Amino acid sequence: MKVFKFGGTSTNSYERVKNLAHILNFHKDEKILIVISAMGKMTNGLEKVVDAFYEQRNEDALKLFKKIKDYHLNQLKYLVTLHWEKATNQLNDFFTEVEWLLHDKPVKDYNYYYDQIVCVGELLSSTLISYFLDEEKLPNQWIDVRDLIRTDDTFRDGKVDWGVSKKFVSEKLLPLFQQNNFVVTQGFMGGTDENESTTLGREGSDYTAAIFADLLDAESVTIWKDVDGVMNADPKEFPGAKTIDELSYKEVIEMAYYGAKVIHPKTIKPLQNKNIPLFVRSFLDLRLPGTVISNKQNHHLPVMMITKQNQALITLQTIDFSFAEAKPVNLLHEILDELSIKPNLTQNGAITLMICIDDVAEKIEKLAILASSFFNVNIQKGLMLLTLRHYTKEYLKMNEANHEIIMEQRTSDTIQQLMKLT
Ligand code: ADP
Ligand code: ASP
Ligand code: MG
Repeated sequence: MKVFKFGGTSTNSYERVKNLAHILNFHKDEKILIVISAMGKMTNGLEKVVDAFYEQRNEDALKLFKKIKDYHLNQLKYLVTLHWEKATNQLNDFFTEVEWLLHDKPVKDYNYYYDQIVCVGELLSSTLISYFLDEEKLPNQWIDVRDLIRTDDTFRDGKVDWGVSKKFVSEKLLPLFQQNNFVVTQGFMGGTDENESTTLGREGSDYTAAIFADLLDAESVTIWKDVDGVMNADPKEFPGAKTIDELSYKEVIEMAYYGAKVIHPKTIKPLQNKNIPLFVRSFLDLRLPGTVISNKQNHHLPVMMITKQNQALITLQTIDFSFAEAKPVNLLHEILDELSIKPNLTQNGAITLMICIDDVAEKIEKLAILASSFFNVNIQKGLMLLTLRHYTKEYLKMNEANHEIIMEQRTSDTIQQLMKLT
């Protein structure tokens, strides 16, 4: 058994969906669980629907949702002819569920509505793809992942109940493979014991693929991407980035921790637990081997570069010049907890605490207000945080010549530099 995951980029056009079928055609004789994300940037579009709904702009929410509906119905026209009517009915059922909700008044938490609405992106894309594969003579069975992955009700960050999910997988998923080699399901989402939808965090479909690999004791997971594999930097930011053939689980966990956007941070643990290899392959060029991520150490890694844009540096100086010890530190942590802010870098001086955080205006404003009773607060925006793993002296020299470095932290193999772009 293998698990394949296709992200939004691999299904954002007719040609790409066609290409997905082309890839599967090479694997016709293997048993594969196919995990699908929402098409293109559909999740961002659905987030706008949720915002409008929650601000009680119901008309706007319905209008925004109509765009999403039209997009999928249009795709369906191109992709499916044989069972067009059945597929249309299926999509309409999903649309109706959301539209019913959009007519209501929000009475529950934002995150609850977020999950009930946003998850439709994955339901729609996986349905379309399942019908299209049928059309391409690639028989498959579609299954609602909410019947397989049980989570708690931490909306937008559902915690998986591994025991119950394992039982569901044995009872409901495994039997499907007796009839078909391919089963199609959704990434990014799960369900609670109250039949509510949950999501696992943005970009969470990679994590879904890993959860299933663990529950199925899969032979491998393959994530199909628009890049040649995992590279030593995001090629969109560093055009000279190179593909890396082999990476250890540990290296990928470190990369994800520092903010590399190539694989969801939670993906590795379930795979490492069972020693299941993760392949990152290009869906654009099937001849390329891609990257294999496993237990094996790679001792010849180039400098790995990870950037976080839109950073803000908050400098907090104690008003009464007391030392930045337990009391002010605890106070700051309480504020950060309350606002759910996770610092990307911190540094303490005698009477100052410095934290680098994502520049989310609303949160920074609240932070400044809450901290102002104890600290003088200074905010510097427009910064970038660069993390270099396996850095070399030559590389640092070159980098320092080009940027003004405001704060730095280093260990023997990792350096983080907060910089102003010059
Ligand atoms: P999908 O829609 O398939 O989930 P994403 O857009 O989320 O795809 O992820 C693929 C993108 O990740 C690439 O286009 C690339 O710009 C970006 N990326 C960031 N860091 C890296 C890296 N180290 N190696 C490869 N790609 C990276
Ligand atoms: N569709 C979700 C998102 O855009 C999940 C994913 O793509 O992995 O965050
Ligand atoms: Mg993605």
